[in-house]
Amino acid sequence: MSRMGMGRSGYLTEEEQKNKPKVTGALLKRVFSYLTPYWKQLLLTLGCILITSILRIYPSVLTGRIIDEGLIGRDLRALVTLIVLSLLVTIGAELIGILESYLNSWIAQHITFDMRNAMYKHLSRMSQRFFTTSSQGEIITRMTSDIGGVQSVITGTFTSILSNSITLIVAIVAMFRKNPYLALLGMVIVPLFTIPTRKAGKTRWNLTRQSQAMNDEINGILNETLSVSGQLLVKLFGREEAEYQKYEKVNRQMVDLNVKESMAGRWFRLILSVLTSIGPMLLYLVGGILMMKYDQDLTVGDITVLVALLSRMYGPVNSLLNIQVEWIRSMALFTRIFEYYDMPVEVENDPHAVKPTRRALGEVEFRHVSFSYEENRPILKNIHFSLKSGDCVAIVGPSGSGKSTIVNLIPRLYDVKSGAVVFDGVDVRKLDLHYLRENIGIVTQETYLFNGSIRDNLLYAKPEATEEELWDALRKANIADFVEAQESGLDTMVGNRGLKLSGGEKQRISIARVLLKNPALLIFDEATSALDSISESKIQEAIVPLTKSRTSILIAHRLSTILSADEILVVQDGKIVERGRHQDLVKAGGVYTELYETQFKIQE
Ligand code: ATP
Repeated sequence: MSRMGMGRSGYLTEEEQKNKPKVTGALLKRVFSYLTPYWKQLLLTLGCILITSILRIYPSVLTGRIIDEGLIGRDLRALVTLIVLSLLVTIGAELIGILESYLNSWIAQHITFDMRNAMYKHLSRMSQRFFTTSSQGEIITRMTSDIGGVQSVITGTFTSILSNSITLIVAIVAMFRKNPYLALLGMVIVPLFTIPTRKAGKTRWNLTRQSQAMNDEINGILNETLSVSGQLLVKLFGREEAEYQKYEKVNRQMVDLNVKESMAGRWFRLILSVLTSIGPMLLYLVGGILMMKYDQDLTVGDITVLVALLSRMYGPVNSLLNIQVEWIRSMALFTRIFEYYDMPVEVENDPHAVKPTRRALGEVEFRHVSFSYEENRPILKNIHFSLKSGDCVAIVGPSGSGKSTIVNLIPRLYDVKSGAVVFDGVDVRKLDLHYLRENIGIVTQETYLFNGSIRDNLLYAKPEATEEELWDALRKANIADFVEAQESGLDTMVGNRGLKLSGGEKQRISIARVLLKNPALLIFDEATSALDSISESKIQEAIVPLTKSRTSILIAHRLSTILSADEILVVQDGKIVERGRHQDLVKAGGVYTELYETQFKIQE
């Protein structure tokens, strides 16, 4: 018995029952808004569905004439003509069916294409907070399987509702035209016999789910007790007998359940075959009585047609009963996707944002800034300082004091809770986001290089950069020698996340990348992790001259970096506790003196 596709069966699980989406007019409107751009194709599909549904029923109607005119009327010509006609109709229906499938999958693919793009665009605008708090797995699931699910909703659910409803209506109309009494009888028979089979199906489905759960339990026991470390534990604690008892118990339960399940399947099939054969028999019986006793205008052919139409109705009725479940699932799917679409983009470009045309100076001012990542856990408290064009400040302080957080606020990775961050005299929230970020270059602690060549990584900052510009940046970042020494030079592949390079090399490449961007403000978050002293001095040699020639902020952990700054800000617990120049701060006997004694002096 196949356990595949359990989740997609015609019954809702308890969890799905609990999380039933609220289907509102607004939700439906929104779903259909994705369909409207394709209304022409949809209309055409609808036409195809209509035609195929009618054509597929038509041969059943023709059987009546084959019997009455051809067989009973003993007319060979009519017989052959009707058979050929029936064949042609079937072929025609299938041909149009192909067109319908094509249109269907075309529409579904285009709608998912639109939704994926919209989702990607939306997600890429989300703030840093979103990416640090939501799991990557979930983001990818939304992008791939949820939006992929939309496709099956369109090709499956929507189409199935349409084609089954049409088939059903056509069948009922055809039956009524033959004989209203028998048609009415048919309409009673079909649901009467479909609903019990659904009940039986549900029982079996429940059993299958139970045995699936039990199977998981058995697998758990096997994994725990028959693995290398598990069996060691069992042996050392002498638990063999107890574990065996546990295993034997579930194993026995599994036996009972499996027998029940297969018998339920057997009963199910019995009910199904009895019910489906009762329907036609009833029609023959009532039809016969009407024909013989009440002299109704009924032929043998008519009754055969009615029976054929009846058997055509079970499928659609069953599907339509399942549709409710499919529908709930589809709506849940759309609700989930829309929830993602509706997540607010925290950091947004102000509609009236200013975009200065002159070259930025890179001046920064923090005006009484407070900030927290989470409610009630303040990280920055009343940070107040300013940085003039061409100057360099060093931010120092214990780990976790909020140094990186301060610089994250400048390119608006997050927005302040109170106060303001001002760039070149304008509140960053009023500046064009693209302009702001274009003018800020950050070398983060953890450098991120993507899988590609050194050249690819550099060009990311400035796609039109010339060879000379690339080498110039590499020289300034003190990494040109290394790149030159590589066999493939600039085309050396850096590996996944740049893992083929050492930490120091990676950081210098990312310095070169930032230099190509030529930002007005340079922010350098010095790595806390230990680099060897040669790597470290190479980075120092690169970074110190850069700070002389442009506005810069250094989050510093090394004395030589700190010494190159015009002002030092000492941050502790999210507050600036001291500020000034090195010599004065060392003498002051405060937090900086302590940092100097414990960390920097050793480096000296
Ligand atoms: P280090 O020198 O170790 O890099 P830091 O001074 O730069 O430390 P920050 O990274 O600014 O410190 O972190 C300050 C505080 O904010 C820490 O307590 C940290 O746990 C918290 N924090 C940092 N990032 C987040 C985040 N995305 N969500 C919640 N809390 C965060």
